[in-house]
Amino acid sequence: MRISIPPTWRTRIDRYRLRATHCKDCGRTGYPPSEVCRFCGSKNIETVELIDEKAKLVTWTVIYSAMEGFEERRPIIIGVLETLNHKARILAPLTDILPEELRSGMEMEPVLRRIGEEGDSGLINYGIAYRPVLKKVE
Ligand SMILES: [Zn+2]
Repeated sequence: MRISIPPTWRTRIDRYRLRATHCKDCGRTGYPPSEVCRFCGSKNIETVELIDEKAKLVTWTVIYSAMEGFEERRPIIIGVLETLNHKARILAPLTDILPEELRSGMEMEPVLRRIGEEGDSGLINYGIAYRPVLKKVE
């Protein structure tokens, strides 16, 4: 008998660690991970994790009409972020911030957040969201 991890599980692990594909030829990093470099097509790639990397906010969109089950989370803010080290672009929800507080270029960091429950199964889904990096008051 062969045991293999279901694809959904693998995707979840990738999501929690923010795994991405770094290309050793063109030097760019793509998220989510891919089999070949999405920028130059090279297979000379390695997997990197972006979970410990801060990112700057590039742009965002605010969604006021939330999907069923997400009403309590309105408004939902979806941001495009660029990680500081690998310069990878990530599309992720933003948390712990109000739309009027958003500034392009602000530093944010990834956190694991509950993003809802799957119907009656009670299975709780977690996902990565970005929150502002709290500046220490001196
Ligand atoms: Zn490449």
